[in-house]
Amino acid sequence: MAAPAREEIDALDLGLPFDPLAKVKSLAGVRAEDVGQGDALVVMDGDGNDVLRIDYGGVQSSPFNGLADPVRAPKIDQLLPVPAAQTIMLSHWDHDHWASAWPGTNAVKRGHWLTPRQWTSPSAVERSVEIANIRCIPPLLETVPCRFVAANGDELWWEKLKAFRPTFQNEDCNRSGVAFSVVQKRTGKVIFLPGDAPFHLPRHYRTHAARGLTMRGLVAFHHGAGTHWTKGTRRFLKRWGRPDERQSIVYSAGAVNRDSHPVEANYTKAFPVAGFPKMEFLYTRDVRLGKPPVEIRF
Ligand SMILES: [Zn+2]
Repeated sequence: MAAPAREEIDALDLGLPFDPLAKVKSLAGVRAEDVGQGDALVVMDGDGNDVLRIDYGGVQSSPFNGLADPVRAPKIDQLLPVPAAQTIMLSHWDHDHWASAWPGTNAVKRGHWLTPRQWTSPSAVERSVEIANIRCIPPLLETVPCRFVAANGDELWWEKLKAFRPTFQNEDCNRSGVAFSVVQKRTGKVIFLPGDAPFHLPRHYRTHAARGLTMRGLVAFHHGAGTHWTKGTRRFLKRWGRPDERQSIVYSAGAVNRDSHPVEANYTKAFPVAGFPKMEFLYTRDVRLGKPPVEIRF
């Protein structure tokens, strides 16, 4: 089979010191927006404000599908609001993680995007050049776990998993993107946001284990292939389940998903109800039935 066409994201590297938590007192957790198949996550502060976005996706069964051009952008702005200069970090350049960034949306016009440099689809590269303010993670920070710290010590961790290779011309974006986690300092709880990377890859996830943190929740990756559901990932997840704690597993994959993402049975096998009675499974698709927003709060 011929390799799929890939092009390089060629935005400039981030240059200036950058800290979206500079004025943030504490972190409260994460909200997962209902965008159908794909991620659009918001990191919230202790006052309930949106601090930063991670991804802006949604493809299959997105609420914006089928809308005509004049109404699509305002609808996206309304449901996925992006205040001026809000930071939007991208986990990777697969379509379901950026597809709601339509031309004319506030995300494209006034979001400040920080993204991994990857070999990706021509349509992703085309969209990236329409984003008014976009920077790539510089090579210096590739493969290096980084963190932003709120005033009370709460942390937002992020890690570009592999270095960009200019000569490569093809790559599995799931494995070379950015993985995130949010840590509440006082309680030692962590929320895992791996993008679509397997859980055993991020180095800083292992650091969290070494520090003795406990898991408050995770947003499941979309990839259903066996290449991601490895022994390492299974072992990783089993380690974090706690029968005595409220924990939340979030699926952001739409009501109809022809790729069967995420593979829910994988997670229910890793965390059997009998063993983890306080664990809850949350589905962004249920929000359309009048259920409250899907949130993982500490
Ligand atoms: Zn995905």
